[in-house]
Amino acid sequence: MKRFNIIYFAFIFLLLVSIIYLYINIGQFEEKTKDNIKKVIFNNTSYFIENISSIIKNDINEDLYTTLKKNHKLRNKLEKQMETIVTPSFKYVYMLYRDNNGRYRYLLDGSKDDKGVFDTKFDVNKDEWDKVYDTKKPNVIYQDDIFGLWVTTLSPYIMNGKVVGIIAIDFSTTLFKYMTEIISPLKEIFLYIFVSVLFLFSVIIYQVIAQIRAKKDSIIDPLTHTYNRIFLRDFVTKIDFYNYDIAMFDLDYFKKINDNYGHKAGDYILETFSSIVKKNIRDKDIFIRFGGEEFLLFVYKKKKNRSYAKETIVRIRKSIEDYKFKYESFDIRLTVSVGLVVEIQKYKNIQEIIKKADERLYKAKHSGRNRVVDSDNTINNDTIMVNKLSISQIKQAIDEDRILCQFQPIYRLKSSEIKYYEALVRLCDKSNNLVYPGSFLDSIEGTNIYRDMTKKILAIVFKKIANQGVNISINLNLSDIIDSSIYEMLIKEIRNNQDISKFLTIELLEYEDLDNNLLQYRLSEIKQYGVMISLDDFGSGYSNFSVFESLPIDILKIDGSLIKNIDKSEVSFRIVEAIVLFAHNLNIKVVGEFIHNEEILKIVKSLNIQYGQGFYLGKPIDDIF
Ligand code: GH3
Ligand code: MG
Ligand code: MG
Repeated sequence: MKRFNIIYFAFIFLLLVSIIYLYINIGQFEEKTKDNIKKVIFNNTSYFIENISSIIKNDINEDLYTTLKKNHKLRNKLEKQMETIVTPSFKYVYMLYRDNNGRYRYLLDGSKDDKGVFDTKFDVNKDEWDKVYDTKKPNVIYQDDIFGLWVTTLSPYIMNGKVVGIIAIDFSTTLFKYMTEIISPLKEIFLYIFVSVLFLFSVIIYQVIAQIRAKKDSIIDPLTHTYNRIFLRDFVTKIDFYNYDIAMFDLDYFKKINDNYGHKAGDYILETFSSIVKKNIRDKDIFIRFGGEEFLLFVYKKKKNRSYAKETIVRIRKSIEDYKFKYESFDIRLTVSVGLVVEIQKYKNIQEIIKKADERLYKAKHSGRNRVVDSDNTINNDTIMVNKLSISQIKQAIDEDRILCQFQPIYRLKSSEIKYYEALVRLCDKSNNLVYPGSFLDSIEGTNIYRDMTKKILAIVFKKIANQGVNISINLNLSDIIDSSIYEMLIKEIRNNQDISKFLTIELLEYEDLDNNLLQYRLSEIKQYGVMISLDDFGSGYSNFSVFESLPIDILKIDGSLIKNIDKSEVSFRIVEAIVLFAHNLNIKVVGEFIHNEEILKIVKSLNIQYGQGFYLGKPIDDIF
């Protein structure tokens, strides 16, 4: 809530409380004033009654009724004396007694008008009058109506311990009426003000709640109910991020879930994934949806357990791996890759930390996915050996044109002629040292930098073929061919330039599932122009035989790990033998790579493998002459 809102809110609240306080006080003021007036009336009346009593006592010491009945003069005298206290307010002063039938009759009447005659009946509120007889104590009767207040004070006259009569004084005043006339509108005004302020107050509360809700909505991702990037932007300015270990999560092969089960299934998985993560973290850990299927987790550091974040994240990774996402009739399995940064103090700002987490996430991806990478150079069961070049170094090398190719010959074994060359990417560092792909490819795979590098390699190869008319093969993977900008560059060149297409071979890397419609379509298009398609590294990784049905493959390159042991391992030998047989039956040519001695060359030849590559035959060279 904004500061202004809080002040506004507090002001209205105070106003409301003050009005309630005043309203209650006006009511109380009215009651108190009435009570005070009553007290004054009672005191005055008591004083008068005492006077009257003592006058009577002076003159009568025998039976009251008989004395008064007999002595007409005494009655007159007493009544005259009573009359002296009669005023417009103290209107009636009289004395009654209760006869044997319980009726009240006049003894004396000091009133000026409607004077009661001795011993005549007078109808009174019997219950109230009886009370005085029974309790021998005074009783005050109040009658409050639109004409004003009537106060009748009844006081017992006692002789020899017995009540023999009741002295009554009637008092009336219109003061209350006037008071009510003044206070009522005042109360009404306060009531109106109160209602208006209450309304205002409710409106403000409603607005504040709406505001809080809108703010909350804007920082919460509606699908996963986790925080979103808007929250992150604000959050990082408020926290001391040195208190956290920070991890970036990315679901593995998530696109396939959408492709295979539909977008709704994907949504459901994102939602369920988030709730599994939330179950594994504490309130002070912050989980954020960073992008599509990428999440950030801020794990609050535990002083006594430095590996707490890693333990938590490994636990989450395992939970996801073990979880069956039940969608419609499917049991969907899924894994997640994580890049974790715990050495936060090394970085200057949150952007650097996130970048580092992202880099490690890529490492996790390219070392097989479903793992947590938490450092740049250590190897644990989850991590891989890491390249030595930083991403910015690689980017710089591309910008400065320090990407080049070496070419390794592939021989036709029967005739010992070079059939074609494989283009192998190299990077030339600032001190002119040759850097091998193991030091730079992994970390940029899947990034724009990788795409730029692939385009560079394509350009080098096209130029080489154009200048020298040699057969060259180039390594491309599924993502390269699916990437439209790479594909466009490729197809444009081979479409427009038959001289290039008939010299070109594409080596399709086989570490991904190649069952992909777009890949099939594009490869057959490429092939129309005479480009050869070679399947790389067959016999390791996926080695899915169905690709021979879906893709137009001309050449199959047996994985080096099989060839290099072929002289020692019976199993490797038998596998290669079977692959060759299979390939020959499909009319596919076979390349044996990793031929590093004569023994292996002999065996490879004996297996009728057509083409050979390896250090024994020819190392990669800088230029083709
Ligand atoms: P990798 O293992 O390399 O991460 O592969 P991947 O397929 O998970 O990665 P990629 O980044 O290629 O694909 C991410 C996909 O996530 C693409 C996009 O369609 C999908 N995606 C992003 N946001 C949503 C979403 O809100 N709902 C659904 N259903 N899919 C989403
Ligand atoms: Mg992704
Ligand atoms: Mg993913």
